[in-house]
Amino acid sequence: MKSNYDALVIGCGPAGMGAALALKKAGVDFAIIEKDAPGGKVNIAPRVDNYPRQAPIPGPDLAVLLFQRIIDNNIEMIQDEVLSLTKEGELFHLKTKFSGELTAKVVLIATGTKERKLGLEHEDEMLGHGLSYCAVCDGHFFKDKDVLVVGGGNVALKETVYLSKLCKKVYLVHRRNEFRGDLKYVNEVKELPNVEIITPYIPLEIICDDKVKAIRLQNREDNSERTIEVQGFFPLVGQDPNSNFVNIENVKNEWGTIPYTSIKTMETGCPNLFVAGDVTPRDLRQIYLAEHDGMVAANSMIEALKK
Ligand SMILES: Cc1cc2nc3c(=O)[nH]c(=O)nc-3n(C[C@H](O)[C@H](O)[C@H](O)COP(=O)(O)OP(=O)(O)OC[C@H]3O[C@@H](n4cnc5c(N)ncnc54)[C@H](O)[C@@H]3O)c2cc1C
Repeated sequence: MKSNYDALVIGCGPAGMGAALALKKAGVDFAIIEKDAPGGKVNIAPRVDNYPRQAPIPGPDLAVLLFQRIIDNNIEMIQDEVLSLTKEGELFHLKTKFSGELTAKVVLIATGTKERKLGLEHEDEMLGHGLSYCAVCDGHFFKDKDVLVVGGGNVALKETVYLSKLCKKVYLVHRRNEFRGDLKYVNEVKELPNVEIITPYIPLEIICDDKVKAIRLQNREDNSERTIEVQGFFPLVGQDPNSNFVNIENVKNEWGTIPYTSIKTMETGCPNLFVAGDVTPRDLRQIYLAEHDGMVAANSMIEALKK
């Protein structure tokens, strides 16, 4: 198997695929590396209404359409996980789980984010059995039922609004009395008759058998406890960038997201290392933005290779 490339793209979500199509058109010697299903998070979007020139479409169907372009263009795909990325001299070294070590002159990081966990017992086991990290994807399973959301940012607030339209009752639990999210969303949530805000509480235990039955909470001021019976549990406490594998200085910020030095190049703090999509620090994470980043980054990679 080939192991030395001019360019490597890590991640086959919209950002990686956007870049791959542009690199292929320019005739670059490259491959795209993906550890899970091609399409990235598009696979878990229930319905995408805002993809340009596309009627509303279920996320998994759009993921297939997007990946079909990779197949049609005969783009080399390596089904593997990148475990570490380093730079020695002018060359990037990528250690992978199954394919050994790969090298490239230019690299694009397009690895997106993953949902942050609470670290509670039974959290992994209850995923898909009453616990979900995505209200928009799974809210319909809890129609006319009671659910509990944990979080204090915009995602938790917006998803609470969404769930309030489907569910009988929504409990919104946050560890502080003030929310981190925008005031307009806080006010909207406060107006909803079927939402009860519970602060300053933290979840202590998921009470369950083969599915979620209740959540035990603790008050952070007086340590008193409350147990709330619910059928659905949505920990919505943020996302973490998929960047642990990056072992190069001056590339990640304190949160592990990867900033670019210029939006015109998408180059990181390390020369010839580029970034695109959700793994960058940004408020709005969308398919078309990720694709656009990928295409801009690809242009810069092509220029870098010419030099
Ligand atoms: C529930 C939900 C609904 C959404 N709905 C919409 C919508 O309607 N419209 C819209 O525009 N956007 C929507 N989004 C956002 C959109 O899906 C993302 O902004 C977009 O997918 C980001 O693309 P990306 O390529 O940056 O990252 P991702 O899509 O996350 O892709 C990153 C890829 O990198 C891979 N990867 C990660 N680490 C490694 C590694 N070490 N080695 C190899 N591969 C790796 C991952 O497996 C993944 O496939 C939604 C998101 C969610 C979660």
